[in-house]
Amino acid sequence: MDEKKKTIALIAHDNKKAEMVEWAMFRKTELEKYNLCGTGTTSRRVAEATGLDVQGFLSGPLGGDQQIGAHLAEGKIDAVIFFCDPLTALPHDPDVRALLRIAVVYDVPIATNRATADCILAAGISDFFGK
Ligand code: PGA
Repeated sequence: MDEKKKTIALIAHDNKKAEMVEWAMFRKTELEKYNLCGTGTTSRRVAEATGLDVQGFLSGPLGGDQQIGAHLAEGKIDAVIFFCDPLTALPHDPDVRALLRIAVVYDVPIATNRATADCILAAGISDFFGK
C-alpha cells in the first residue's frame, strides 16, 4: 500500500468477472497508478490476469462488500469500480445496496459499468473530484 496513491476498490458479480478481468488488463497502465483492493474472487482473478497487486477482502456474499463499505466510510477508499449484474437476483443484494448508499453519503465515485469506469480513470480521481 503506497500512502501517496489513491485507492480503488474492484468488485464484479459472477456474470461480470470476465468483463472486469478484460477491462483491468486493458487499463493496466492506468490502474498501476492506484492502490487496488477488491472482493475476494474479483481481486484474485484481476491479480492473476494482470500481475497487479490487489488487496483481497472477503468474498462479496460473505461480507466483502460490507468490508469495502466500511473502508470507504473511513476514507480509505477513493473510488469503487463495481461491475454489477443487473439481470440476476443475488442473496447479498442488501449488502450491494448498502455499499451504493454509503458511496453516495461520502460522495465517493462508484462506477457500475465499464463506460463509467473509463470516465473515472480518464478524469483521474484527485483532479476531477477536487479531493
Ligand atoms: P467476489 O464478490 O469478488 O468475491 O465474487 C463479488 C460479489 O459477488 O459481490
